[in-house]
Amino acid sequence: MTNERHYDIVIIGAGPAGLAAGLYAARARRRTMLLERNVTGGQIALTSVIENYPGIEEVDGFELGQMMQRQAEKYGMETDYTEVTGLERRDGLHVIHTKEGDYTAKAVILTGGADYNRLGVPGEEELIGKGVSYCATCDAAFFKDQVCAVVGGGDAAMDEGLFVTRYASKVYVIHRRDELRASRILQERAFANPKMEFVWNTVVTEIEGQETVERLKLRNVVTNEESTLDVAAVFIFIGHHPNTDYVRAYVKMDNGGHIYVNEWMDTDVPGLFAAGDIRVNSARQVVTAAGDGATAAIRADHYISDNFRE
Ligand code: NAP
Repeated sequence: MTNERHYDIVIIGAGPAGLAAGLYAARARRRTMLLERNVTGGQIALTSVIENYPGIEEVDGFELGQMMQRQAEKYGMETDYTEVTGLERRDGLHVIHTKEGDYTAKAVILTGGADYNRLGVPGEEELIGKGVSYCATCDAAFFKDQVCAVVGGGDAAMDEGLFVTRYASKVYVIHRRDELRASRILQERAFANPKMEFVWNTVVTEIEGQETVERLKLRNVVTNEESTLDVAAVFIFIGHHPNTDYVRAYVKMDNGGHIYVNEWMDTDVPGLFAAGDIRVNSARQVVTAAGDGATAAIRADHYISDNFRE
């Protein structure tokens, strides 16, 4: 096929998984297109400092995304900024529908990531990366010996809240009910931790701070009583949603919208792979997403060799 929009491998989503997939696909000398609807980097584009990517002691998240893109483009990966609206299988190829027209590919790698659910309260957007965080593993170390808060009552809130206690002097857990959703074992650990204090039946109504987070405005949902809580950071874990709406009818996924893959990142659709936060059981780290992306690209390269005459 000579169509200028026909590629060996199309990758959908320019976070670390997609950028690593692009690097590996391009270095395998596959004609590779990366499609992104927003900014290069995905979630890391909003992360001010990353200090857990092996070999790089400290890097700005946005800059790391740019570096990954430059590296992949050096080997021939192309990038188009457009939103994918759906996929379709036709004559052994994948047709990728976008707002700017169609692309076709022998193999497609889905790396659209996941977005953390936001509280949607005043101050939240403005203070992301300045004390508002959705990743304790990434940011807890910045708040050594300071008072922090965690919002949520699920496994993620307990798991990540316990992680925050390794650094913080105190961690308030703010939950909208008087009972946790988290598994028993995590509840037991959280209740046993002397640094953790639970604030029940309470929601955050505003996050305040000039340059960084200074305090939370709270409301008790039973008594309607309002209060404030001085904290240096608030870690929000109220669930997340993978960006998979446009492929719901195309590929098998769990109830939460995470795509099922095997250890090679194969989905149930031939020539379709998924990598990073979009898949089931992701560790949701930059390094694991990049590893997934590399695995998916190697697999896609083999898939093309095995299924297309070259
Ligand atoms: P989750 O289980 O859906 O819990 C979300 C929590 O946030 C719930 O407590 C919920 O309150 C609360 N919440 C939701 N919307 C809210 C809002 N607008 N304002 C305030 N609170 C809100 O999500 P998750 O904790 O991210 O876990 C997702 C999945 O990953 C789960 O299956 C979990 O088991 C798994 N996971 C497992 C581990 C582990 O085993 N170590 C770690 C992390 C995640 P309600 O309870 O009132 O609904």
